[in-house]
Amino acid sequence: MNKNEVDVTILIAVYNEEEGINYCFEEVNKECLKLNKSYEIIFVNDGSKDNSLQLLKQIAEKHNFVKVISLSRNFGQRPALLAGFEHASGKVIINMDADLQDPVSLISDFVNKWEEGYDVVLAQRNVRKGESFFKKYTSTLFNKIFKKVTNTNIPKNCGITRLLSRRVVESILKMPEKNIYLAGATEYVGFKQAVIKFDRDERKFGKTKYNVKKLVTLAVNNILPYTAFPIIFIFGLSLFLGFAGVMMLLVQGIVALCSVKVSGLLWLIATLITLTGLTIFSVSMVGTYVLKTYTEALNRPRFIISEKYNLGDNNE
Ligand code: UDP
Ligand code: MG
Repeated sequence: MNKNEVDVTILIAVYNEEEGINYCFEEVNKECLKLNKSYEIIFVNDGSKDNSLQLLKQIAEKHNFVKVISLSRNFGQRPALLAGFEHASGKVIINMDADLQDPVSLISDFVNKWEEGYDVVLAQRNVRKGESFFKKYTSTLFNKIFKKVTNTNIPKNCGITRLLSRRVVESILKMPEKNIYLAGATEYVGFKQAVIKFDRDERKFGKTKYNVKKLVTLAVNNILPYTAFPIIFIFGLSLFLGFAGVMMLLVQGIVALCSVKVSGLLWLIATLITLTGLTIFSVSMVGTYVLKTYTEALNRPRFIISEKYNLGDNNE
């Protein structure tokens, strides 16, 4: 991250938002002017296939406080925001969506809270207009599961629109894993947190960029690094089978001692169950080690930048 050059960084990930991007800039800019603070607006073009990048370049040509980072392909909103974090120079970083579903007035509310001494300010949706049943349901379910398996309580109905102070962002960037789940990471990092409530509007332009496939991938990616559920499941199964097998052997042994003949098939089944239990137990032990190394072994870059504007690099 660059040193505190401005007070506020507004960070917006952009994926195919050509219909609304100029309006978004105008509205965000108007709100920022009200702050009476120095600010920059960073747009991260997340591999848009439409005209978004050209439009962003035009805005950046006119305003040097507008910075544009363009990723080489569509990496997803979260990696795009991480790219922005690494280039932000504000004392606080405010994430907004390009579709302005979360009203720009939140920017002033966020900054006011920060001035009261909060490092993290979350925006909680009272209503979730314009979101599919699937999206609402999956995100609520995801938060519940996440809370259960990780003991981390993510305030409900808070999206990615949030204010983070520089030290929070720096701490998040220091987290070594590549697949950072922003809401989880914010809770993990800690610091003083406030939640402001607001009503979420429907998208003014275009359609949601999250389809079912993206949501499912997101849920799996976010949960896997935080849960050992599949391994705990087979570990439990191995204990169950091992116990059942041993009990069967014991009972049959006692019966045999009382000189009642136990069929060979029963002995075979009991031995098979016990051995299967033992095998699955070994697999779950190996799985535990694999799980521990898996996240870190995926040592891929979080994002790859293809061009930058107004950021003091070549492509200006
Ligand atoms: N977005 C992105 N990459 C993606 C999907 C979305 O940068 O792969 C951006 C999108 O342009 C918008 C923000 O993330 O600025 C939120 O997306 P969207 O409004 O589609 O999400 P929703 O409001 O439906 O949760
Ligand atoms: Mg939206």
